[in-house]
Amino acid sequence: MKPIIDLHVHTISSGHAYSTILENVIAAKEAGLKYVGISDHTSKMPGGAHQYHFDNMIVVPKVIEGVRVFRGAEINIMDEFGTLDLKDTSIKRLDYAIASLHGPCYSHSHTLNQNMNAYKAVCNNPLIDIIGHPDDGRYPINRDELAKIAKETNTIIEVNCSSIKPASYRLNGLENTKEMIEACKKYGTLIVVNSDAHHAVDVGKLDLGISLLKELDFPKELTLNFNEDLILKLFDK
Ligand SMILES: [Zn+2]
Ligand SMILES: [Zn+2]
Repeated sequence: MKPIIDLHVHTISSGHAYSTILENVIAAKEAGLKYVGISDHTSKMPGGAHQYHFDNMIVVPKVIEGVRVFRGAEINIMDEFGTLDLKDTSIKRLDYAIASLHGPCYSHSHTLNQNMNAYKAVCNNPLIDIIGHPDDGRYPINRDELAKIAKETNTIIEVNCSSIKPASYRLNGLENTKEMIEACKKYGTLIVVNSDAHHAVDVGKLDLGISLLKELDFPKELTLNFNEDLILKLFDK
């Protein structure tokens, strides 16, 4: 069984990524994907895209080179109250939204309780579909509790292939991802494996994440990458 979607892909509009939508879509097609999600960084990330960038994504064709393209954003979580740096009205125009913690927007000095408050608030925000890379040891969290809240709020947990690469700048990404997968298995929480590509060559490179799920015997029916019906139900607006 092969994954058919990668929902975390950055373009030159993120400010520190190096490929265009077209280059990423062609790469997705070559990687055998049927679906790809474009999720550029929002405005509070240095060089991130302006609100109008997201509001105007309606001009991006739904299908390019035979690949269905979902319009998304990787939105910054700004504080422990789950404040986001993209307006609700703008998020509603997109097909999906990822919310993540990033150093330039949310400092690494926050406590476990503050980080959990932030994630709880974001999971309870119906506009957010996916929690991006909850695997960085610089942000202490309770992964068991996050998996439980995500299940209760229909929020998807990301397995981020950039975090589990040996060269990742995130702290203890592999160990933390394993712990996250085990917790999702316990509660029946939906997982999506994403590349977090910042260059087209990485689009659809999901092997590290997919093998980890296999190694930990994570159910295929809870892995979004294999469930076309669910993908269409959730994101095909
Ligand atoms: Zn980035
Ligand atoms: Zn990120």
